[in-house]
Formats: sequence, structure tokens, C-alpha cells
Amino acid sequence: MSKKGGGDAVKNPGAEPTLGIDPFQDTLRRLREAFKSGRTRSAEFRAAQLQGLGRFLQENKQLLQDALAQDLHKSAFEADVSEIITTQNEVDYALKNLQAWMKDEPGSTNLFMKLDSVFIRKEPFGLVLIIAPWNYPVNLVLVPLVGALAAGNCVVLKPSEISQGTEKVVAEVLPRYLDQSCFAVVLGGPQETGQLLEHKFDYIFFTGSPRVGKIVMTAAAKHLTPVTLELGGKNPCYVDDSCDPQTVANRVAWFRYFNAGQTCVAPDYVLCSPEMQERLLPALQSTITRFYGDDPQSSPNLGRIINQKQFQRLRALLGCGHVAIGGQSDESDCYIAPTVLVDVQETEPVMQEEIFGPILPIVNVRSVDEAIEFINRREKPLALYAFSNSSQVVNQMLERTSSGGFAGNDGFLYVSLLSVPLGGVGHSGMGRYHGKFTFDTFSHHRTCLLAPSGLEKLKEIRYPPYTDWNQQLLRWGMGPKSCTLL
Ligand code: NAD
Repeated sequence: MSKKGGGDAVKNPGAEPTLGIDPFQDTLRRLREAFKSGRTRSAEFRAAQLQGLGRFLQENKQLLQDALAQDLHKSAFEADVSEIITTQNEVDYALKNLQAWMKDEPGSTNLFMKLDSVFIRKEPFGLVLIIAPWNYPVNLVLVPLVGALAAGNCVVLKPSEISQGTEKVVAEVLPRYLDQSCFAVVLGGPQETGQLLEHKFDYIFFTGSPRVGKIVMTAAAKHLTPVTLELGGKNPCYVDDSCDPQTVANRVAWFRYFNAGQTCVAPDYVLCSPEMQERLLPALQSTITRFYGDDPQSSPNLGRIINQKQFQRLRALLGCGHVAIGGQSDESDCYIAPTVLVDVQETEPVMQEEIFGPILPIVNVRSVDEAIEFINRREKPLALYAFSNSSQVVNQMLERTSSGGFAGNDGFLYVSLLSVPLGGVGHSGMGRYHGKFTFDTFSHHRTCLLAPSGLEKLKEIRYPPYTDWNQQLLRWGMGPKSCTLL
């Protein structure tokens, strides 16, 4: 398999940076005009776009699987469960619930407003921008798109330039399934995306690193554009002494080595006692052999590192602590073996940066208190995992820490559910999506009050000249459910 360096994007004729000419202007103007026409607002239009997206997934499943295999050596199994089927489920769920989600939500009123109608209208923001990373290049582009279309927006999609196979399918095939007056794919790397971000959007949904998240938020601030930032970080995984090591090894290894560790919610490092480490190491070795065979490089089930740049970064991390399991690498194949590191110092790079690869360091702690203290002196992670036979220990971890998501005795399967959101907190991001949360993210919740044009006598109590009597009457009429007038 040949791997390529990042940044060599498929050329978008409309997006070539030409001196003095804004490559995005025409596209953005077209989309704005389309939004102004009101075309995207009807339920029928939104449903037609979602159906188009569903057809794209069904009719191009093999193409997408091939692209994911080309980009990440992703197995068809992993491609299906984490990218194609997940996205299809989101489409089907949005289609099923669209009418209900779009409905106005009534607000309760008080005595003085009994004849008024108060409700929340979910209206589209307008022109929204979705910027995606390379690690789940179908899912992380299209799942936000489901909500953006369902909410009635016009959309600019910016896939990652690094996952080139998938980028090409998204750029060349997807637009055929959607109304192109309301939807565009823009290609490019940091420079082009920087240029794109100079434009005003009505909402920006960004998935990627905290470093670029700051760039996006700074650009958005210039236009007061609201943002969702789905970022990354180091996700701790605490394992206490009561656990069955083989069960923990199976669960942690699957979530760590899935997609060759290039998962934002993967357990990034294990915190456990030296005694548990001794029991966990043979269990992890046995799991890795069972999952990927004696020679994981020849396993069809293990992914590859996306490119040379990421490979070099990860290979350097293999020098931290001591290699207890794995540690082999092959530059020509962007291959890094499923690896476990021990004797790792907190100050070493592998404990300073998000690993984002198939490397699992184990850091020793003496107690759950020490683990909590370790976690809490770092940035808030996107996910946190606690393994213990004691629900008290799991609850302690949940109560005394903060993270985007949490799982006790399992990994990140909760991200596949439509009923709960995915999102970070603090350094791991802001905002949330999946299922209805995506629709809500891309909808402005507009509070509306419709009062009768007559009946002025009833309203007069609020006008000057103010009197104590009027104030008392107003307070009584507004009742305990209201806050003050302003
Ligand atoms: P990245 O931040 O480098 O790139 C993300 C996107 O931003 C890409 O489309 C890229 O073209 C664009 N970009 C890169 N540099 C830019 C710049 N200077 N100006 C403007 N745009 C720029 O992230 P990545 O390497 O593609 O993905 C890995 C990161 O994404 C990890 O930190 C991972 O944890 C995070 N991630 C988070 C989630 C989540 O749901 N929270 C999911 C997947 C990945």
C-alpha cells in the first residue's frame, strides 16, 4: 500500500488561490442567494436532501469502503460500523423525525399573557460551514451535514485534504445527490481554509485539533459567528485492582487499536497500580494476538497511520518509557504495531500530547484518589473511562472529574447512540451533536410571542405613570414562573 504526505489536495477549480481573486466569492454568493430565496426551508426540500444523502451512501458503499481502505487501511467491518452504517442511521433517524423536530415548541405563559401565543421556532441559521478531520472522513463530514440539511441551511463542506481518497468521493460524487444551488464542497488545506474562514458564515461546525479550533474560533469571532468545536485531547482510562484483567484488556485494546488508534474518543492512557499493570500486560498481549495474529502487520483488521507526518510523530513517541508490547514499525507501510508502554514519566511527550495512534502508555497510580488528582490537574478530556467491579469507584470517578463523555467498564460505544450527544468540555470542545442534537445545533431557537392587536385595556397596567398598585397587580399576574420583565 502506498501512503502519501498530507496537503496535496484534489484541485477544486472554483477554489484555486489566484492572486487578488477571491476563489470562494461566487460559490458563497450563490449559496446565500439560494438561502434568501427560502427554498431550503420547507420540510419537503429538507427531506429530499436527506433522501439524496441516504442514496449517496447506499449507491456508493463500495466506493466509500475502497476510499477508506486507501486512506487508512480501514477494514470493511470498521468502515461499516463507524462510518457508513452510522451515517445511514443518522439519515434515517432525521427523516423519521424531521416533522416533529421542525414543529414549534410551545412556551407556557402567565395570567397577563393568557391571550398571547408563545413558542420556540426552529429556524435555519443560513449559510453554514462544516470543517472535518481525516480520521473518520465519512462520518465526521456527513453526520454534521445530516443536521445542517435537516435544519434547512445551505452548506459549505470542507473535508480533510489529508484523507485524499475519501475527499475525492465527497467532492466528486456527493454533490450529484444534493441540490447544488444550496450545497458546495470546498477543497484545500490550512491556507485555503484560512482564506475561506475570512468570509462570514452564519454557523461554523469544526471537528479537529484544539490548535486549529482556536484558529477557527478566532476567525469566527471577527463576524460574531457561533461555533461548535469538536476537539481532541488525552482521554484517561482508570483500571482498579478489582477488575478481571482479561476483560479490561479486551475492551481497552479494542477501543485503543480500532482505526489504528486514530480516534478522538479512544482511551489515550491507562492509570493503574503496579500490581494491576503486572496482571494487565499478559492479558493485553494475549488480546492483541487474538485480535491481530502473531504478525499484526499482515492482519486485514488493523488500520494504518494516515501519512508519513503522523507516522514520524508516532514513531518518536515509541521512545518514551519502555516498550512492553509491540513497538515495531514500518515506514514504507505507515505501520505501527499495537503497542503498550510502561515506566512512562508524566513529563514525556507521550503524556503531553494526544497520542492518536496505536500506542497505549500505562502510568502507575496508587489509588483512585491519586488517579482523580492526576486527571484533574490536566485539561478536561473528551472522554473518560473507569474500570472497576465496584460501582462506588466508577461513581467516584464520574462525580469528581469532568469530561465530554464518560463510560464505566466499557469504551466509546455511546458515540454510536442517537439518543445522547457527543461533545467536549473546556479544552476538548464546545457544543454537541448526534441525532436531534445535531438538528438543534444547526437551528436558531427563536423565541416568538404573538399578541392580539386589540385588547389594549388589558395591557395598560404596565405603562407609566407607575404606581405601587400596578406593580403589585403585575407581580401577581406574572406569577412565580416568570422572571422580572427584563
Ligand atoms: P486538524 O485540526 O489538523 O484539521 C482539521 C481540519 O482543519 C481539516 O479540514 C484541515 O484542513 C483544517 N485545518 C488544518 N489547519 C488549519 C489552519 N491552520 N487553518 C484553518 N483550517 C485548518 O485535525 P486533524 O489532524 O485532521 O484531526 C485530528 C484531530 O481532530 C485530533 O485532535 C482529534 O482528537 C480531533 N478529532 C476530534 C473529534 C471529535 O469528535 N471531538 C473527532 C475526530 C477528530
